Amino acid sequence: MQVVGDSRHRSVKRTLVREQGDNKEDPATCEQLQIMKAYIETFGCQMNERDSEIIAHLLGRASYSPAADIDTADLVVINTCSIRGKAEQKAMSLLGRLAIRKKKEPRLKIVVAGCVAQQEGQKIIDRVPQTDLVIGPQEIYRLAEYVEEVTRSGKSIVATGLIDNFAIPNLGHVSPAPAVSRFLTIMQGCNNFCTYCIVPYTRGRETSRPAADIVAEAEEMIDSGTTEITLLGQNVNSYGLDRGEKEAFPALLRQVAALPGLKRLRFTTSNPKDLSPALADCFKELDKLCPWFHLPVQSGSDRVLEKMNRKYKRAEYLERVAALRKACPNIAITTDIIVGFPGEEETDFLATMELIKQVRYNSAYSFKYSPRPGTVAAGFADMVEETEKSRRLTALQARQNEITLEINREYEGKIVEVLVEGCGRDPGQWRGHSPENLVVNFTADDKKVGIGDYLQVKIGRGCKNSLRGKAV
Ligand code: SF4
Repeated sequence: MQVVGDSRHRSVKRTLVREQGDNKEDPATCEQLQIMKAYIETFGCQMNERDSEIIAHLLGRASYSPAADIDTADLVVINTCSIRGKAEQKAMSLLGRLAIRKKKEPRLKIVVAGCVAQQEGQKIIDRVPQTDLVIGPQEIYRLAEYVEEVTRSGKSIVATGLIDNFAIPNLGHVSPAPAVSRFLTIMQGCNNFCTYCIVPYTRGRETSRPAADIVAEAEEMIDSGTTEITLLGQNVNSYGLDRGEKEAFPALLRQVAALPGLKRLRFTTSNPKDLSPALADCFKELDKLCPWFHLPVQSGSDRVLEKMNRKYKRAEYLERVAALRKACPNIAITTDIIVGFPGEEETDFLATMELIKQVRYNSAYSFKYSPRPGTVAAGFADMVEETEKSRRLTALQARQNEITLEINREYEGKIVEVLVEGCGRDPGQWRGHSPENLVVNFTADDKKVGIGDYLQVKIGRGCKNSLRGKAV
């Protein structure tokens, strides 16, 4: 087993790999790589989805072709997420199944990527020795190189280097296939250290891509047929701060919005503490910027927010919501909420219930707190009972569902613009998103509709998870 680096010895790791990887003359290896089929299983957030696109692109460049399904793949990449215990368990159970298969098919290569890989490193190979490569988020750009090395040497590799000021390589347009709507990574990492979150430890400190690289990639996407782009980062509002640039994110939005051919621009995710008035003003100025803001609140209680190290108070959060609504009265606001954080008492929970009533979120992703190894909150003593967490989550979701339904019903009779993204099972059924990022299922004449069209749809019914209507 070869360990290639940790956060302190990245240069050592690079030297090791380069020395061993310099022998590119082995014809057997090249032939082996050319016939390989790869399959990627992705868990977690949009950052992971985007990383999987990058991995697919790099494997494609190394002569891998996509496998139709996991059972026919010669190489399986499990791109893991450690934000919640459930996603981690699912990934590890998949790894277990692949390990059994590998005993019968030693040719199978197994790669574990993503946040669990970064966090657990060598422990994954200790637990499942059939794993060929454990690779962290900053290392994925060298994944094909490592796989080639594993194939040649027959030895497992742990590649979990993590450095500050990591320069995100500019790969250009890496989307696997043309698509009308695409994610574009503008930064990686996070400096916020919320006490429940593992991201700063697995993805490192914030590092922003140069604006010129982002704009060039957006242009390539648009040239390939994309008309909607979502700028992606763990905390996009602080884009550029790692380079000492203030208000760089509003400036970036203006640059991308100015590109001819782009129709819709979105971004996610944001920490409320970094939402500046200049960013709120962008919703007034930029026609292409969609009226949707995902603004995770996590809790409505100042006491809990402080324990979470969120660095804003409830009143400040509400001020930012008001500023957004002033700049863009029809803006849709969505959020993330954790219930049952250590020490959360009934009064804290009721403060969160009161907050969702006050803000009236279009929708909310809500979860029971689950301690993540390696985070500060995992060491807190005052854990909330599982049954109590479940009770609070049920109550919160029931209230939020009512609010979502009330808001969606307000669309009944209105006409919304929909970007057509796919068709339903039956003829004449289509789906897409409104500018507010609401899912719209609608009927239309198949001969007159195609994926990528922008249509006007009259909403007949507002449901809990979507709007239903008819193209007009
Ligand atoms: S802002 Fe907090 S929750 Fe979001 S990625 Fe950073 S540490 Fe995690």
